[in-house]
Amino acid sequence: MLAGALLATTACAHGGQGGASSQSSIARTTLPRTRAERTSYAETSTYDDVIAFIDSLQNKGVPMSRQELGRTTEGRVQPLLVLSRPQVTTPEEARALHRPVVYVQANIHAGEVEGKEALLALVRDLATTKNNVLDSIVLIAIPIYNADGNERFKPQSVNRTEQNGPESVGQRPNAQMLDLNRDYVKAEAPETRSSLAAFEKWNPDAFVDLHTTDGSFHGYALTYAPSLNPAAREAGAYTRDSLLPELRRRMKARDGFEVFDYGNFDTQYEERDITDTVKSGWFTYDHRPRFGTNYFGLRQRISILSEAYSHDPFERRVKATYAFVHELLSLVAERGARIRAIEAAADSEVARGNLQTPIPIRSRLTTTPRTLPVTFEVMARTGDSSLTQPGVPRGFRRTGVMKTQSMPVYDRFEPVLSRTIPRAWLLSVRDTLAITLLREHGIRVEPVSPALGKNAYISVFRIDSVRTDTDAFQGHHQMHVSGRWKDLPMLRLQDVLQLTVMVRGDQPQAVAALYLLDPESDDGLVTWNAFDRELAPGKPFPVFRVVSSSARSP
Ligand SMILES: [Zn+2]
Repeated sequence: MLAGALLATTACAHGGQGGASSQSSIARTTLPRTRAERTSYAETSTYDDVIAFIDSLQNKGVPMSRQELGRTTEGRVQPLLVLSRPQVTTPEEARALHRPVVYVQANIHAGEVEGKEALLALVRDLATTKNNVLDSIVLIAIPIYNADGNERFKPQSVNRTEQNGPESVGQRPNAQMLDLNRDYVKAEAPETRSSLAAFEKWNPDAFVDLHTTDGSFHGYALTYAPSLNPAAREAGAYTRDSLLPELRRRMKARDGFEVFDYGNFDTQYEERDITDTVKSGWFTYDHRPRFGTNYFGLRQRISILSEAYSHDPFERRVKATYAFVHELLSLVAERGARIRAIEAAADSEVARGNLQTPIPIRSRLTTTPRTLPVTFEVMARTGDSSLTQPGVPRGFRRTGVMKTQSMPVYDRFEPVLSRTIPRAWLLSVRDTLAITLLREHGIRVEPVSPALGKNAYISVFRIDSVRTDTDAFQGHHQMHVSGRWKDLPMLRLQDVLQLTVMVRGDQPQAVAALYLLDPESDDGLVTWNAFDRELAPGKPFPVFRVVSSSARSP
């Protein structure tokens, strides 16, 4: 009994640098349990519970590096844990291991609580057992990203109306009432800015964002999506076509969970989505980079959205999320060489300025869906208007009967407008909001180099029309401009030098720079009002492209 309760030494067997901590045995029975585990999945962790759990791991000498991602709007420290064998604490040490760095984030929507519980348990279990993925990857875990939202506990009937427990959960937005998973372009929340800085600092090979659905009654314990933005290119396609299908097979074979691509049985999620007995199709969500996992694809890296099934009991959701992340870490570890090769190829193409292929900046849902079997739960009428379970329309009840129907699966987007990356973009020094945002995104903004003008055209976008959304979204009336690019070979660089800064096209985040700076991008700085004062029909758009004379305007 005692022997079974004791774990052998961990990191010392692999030459770990954890010092005394890695030398000591850790009694399994004394390891902390999450609040979910302690309450038989009746409750979820408060912020203090999460901190106490991490304190306890540290006090027991569990090998990991405890750092801060940043501070929330209300000043809470967002813990960032780094785990690997041998143990590392800096990005340089992580890179020196030549392994994939996998960044897993939980609790961005603080009512969606199972990612937080699953990630804490997984950190504990991996760090205190031998011979696992920590020998082959570096794990960066952010267990409570939206810590302020987590603390605004309310009954689930208020904060998560369609979720099957626990009874009391936090709220979706942060303390500024911003949805952090719509903030990855405009970066208005301190949480987002910390997240972008951590991406820049650690340059993870893979990003995983843990959520809970609140949609259709389907037959899957968890649904997932790669970056849906076609500008994610090879890393996006590889995630969609190779990693995720293999993960699906493993989740079924090894963990007993059916999982599938994220979707709903309608584009506009409505009651009939649930009650229809014949489904019209399976539709994914959105490709725009305001969503974190879509954004991360612009970095040409592996990016995965995980959505536990909100209609499953809390315990099952935690277990499905745990299994999904665990399997994913193993798969990324196994495929590390291939993943790093894909990413290195994308990096060198971008950083050398050799990326000639046009990059999608506007996309639409695929017009050529594949037909695949999708499973859904049959609903029955109750004969009255009672509410049988959160998320089930009044007058209906769940039957537990699953039906599988072949239907069109809209799981991807196709480009409708693409642009090449120019030699550089020029913008006015007075566009301070845009410049600040570019820098938040890890994009270098620098003085114009006169050498840039050799054999170059300056291409200017003449605005034809400006449209402002009537309804505010996240505090913004989103902007849309149309117009056309025109080469101006006569414009001399010297004429614009003094008031201008430059964003080079041969820098690591050039794809993100294109998406942010192009006036016709469907989720760029224009969209979020960074250039409002300068937008009028007939005027030039305030960001110019410098293109070589061999590459005329797009
Ligand atoms: Zn969510």
